[in-house]
Amino acid sequence: MNSGSPLTRKVSLSKEKVYVVDSSAFIEGYPPHLIEEKQYVPAAIEEELRDQRSRSLLDAAVRSGDVIVMVPSDRGVKLAEEVAEKTGEAKVLSKVDKHVVALAFDLAAEGYEPVIVTDDYALQNVACKAGFTFKSLMRDGIRNVVKWKLYCSSCRRSYPPDYPDETCEVCGGQLKRVRYRRGKVHGVSH
Ligand SMILES: [Zn+2]
Repeated sequence: MNSGSPLTRKVSLSKEKVYVVDSSAFIEGYPPHLIEEKQYVPAAIEEELRDQRSRSLLDAAVRSGDVIVMVPSDRGVKLAEEVAEKTGEAKVLSKVDKHVVALAFDLAAEGYEPVIVTDDYALQNVACKAGFTFKSLMRDGIRNVVKWKLYCSSCRRSYPPDYPDETCEVCGGQLKRVRYRRGKVHGVSH
């Protein structure tokens, strides 16, 4: 990174892409460790990650430095609310959704090119109206890059990757999830 006055505008032909990730993406199995771009989430995201798996996914990603947690500026939140009002999505969007858009405004102001990662149509619509690109886990195949294997740590019985419980139905053992890496996701076409 260039050090220098924060007031100096970075002059470059192509802006650095950064991802702003919505809670729906984490719930759907978004793989932070497979993404090359810097990734941001609003601090409020923790309110919406209630299941243990998506929470520990986020915690691990924050600890490893793959994901940066940020609180959006008041200016960003105001801009996000204005766009949400214009699109008629203001009542549909959650606080986290608005903060995702707000972070995108903040990061754009810092000279980045934010890409919003979400499967939520209302949020995609607002992202679009705000002039940001977005990626959908399902449509852009981000999720498909990760292969999951779920098995019981006691009896080794295997389970489908989307099995909703955390314990083995046969022996009550703790289920373990193993991820397979298949290379970095980079430049997924929009
Ligand atoms: Zn078992």
